[in-house]
Amino acid sequence: MTQDITLKAAQADTFYYPPEWEPSRGSLDRFQRERGYEHHFGKSRTKNLHKGILVIRFEMPFKVQCLRCETYIGQGTRYDADKKKVGKHFSTPIYEFSMRCGCIVAPDKSADGGVHCNQHFRIRTDPQNSDYLLVEGLRRKVETWDAQDSGSLQLHDAETRAKMDTDPMFKIETNTRNIQKEKSDKERLEDLQELQGEREDSYSLNSMLRRRHRERKAEDQGLAAEEAARRAPRPNFGVALLPPSADDAAEAQGVAFRTDHSKVDAAARVAAKRAAPILARAAARGAAAATPAAVLAAKRQRLAQHARMARLFG
Ligand SMILES: [Zn+2]
Repeated sequence: MTQDITLKAAQADTFYYPPEWEPSRGSLDRFQRERGYEHHFGKSRTKNLHKGILVIRFEMPFKVQCLRCETYIGQGTRYDADKKKVGKHFSTPIYEFSMRCGCIVAPDKSADGGVHCNQHFRIRTDPQNSDYLLVEGLRRKVETWDAQDSGSLQLHDAETRAKMDTDPMFKIETNTRNIQKEKSDKERLEDLQELQGEREDSYSLNSMLRRRHRERKAEDQGLAAEEAARRAPRPNFGVALLPPSADDAAEAQGVAFRTDHSKVDAAARVAAKRAAPILARAAARGAAAATPAAVLAAKRQRLAQHARMARLFG
């Protein structure tokens, strides 16, 4: 992660050794000053050198977040920082860089009520892990994005690259694996393109769908009409009635029906007598004696009786 820092910060700090310079000619700073290349920090660069502090241009090694104003600070953002040696890891010196957040914020958010956030940052080198340690005022932005999960192209990390450079067998293995992956990716891409090609003719696809929809709708309507016809009440007469005429009315009035009323009364009395004993017998037997067969027989008799009455009076 820290590999991609530009050399600009180093150049700004005049870590450039001109070919004319030799250690016998004194410090690099003085040599450059005498040549007319005054460092842009001027005298403030070495103002606190007696305390072991040198002002340098520091470049943020990775993306971080300020803990006060919560602004994300991108990798490569540059700061004027105090560089100080604070310890050693075996023979390697540990340096500490301190600087202030330069983000413009509201006065109540600022560390000292100024225009800038001015949160104090302290970052140390970590030779043990070849990394930087965020001591104060910052936290590292955690990248949870994974190239493999999202299915995008994954580049080899520095470690793998170094191993590939030194180990030809490892390089071949890695590349072979990649070729296989590329092949399967290519096949998948072709399948997708084919599928897309099939669906590209949207006009015919659309018209086909619409036609099917129309057919289904017509079918539904036909079924509904049949159902309505089935449910509609049937007409009482199969033939249409003619309009009433005066001749028919006169003819109907001319007809006289002759009815023998005494005969009809006698038949009614006989029918009533025939019906009476059946009911009396059924009542006399009682509810306990009434078997289903007997009840059924009584019902049949009654029905026959009613039919006879209907024939006579209906
Ligand atoms: Zn800040």
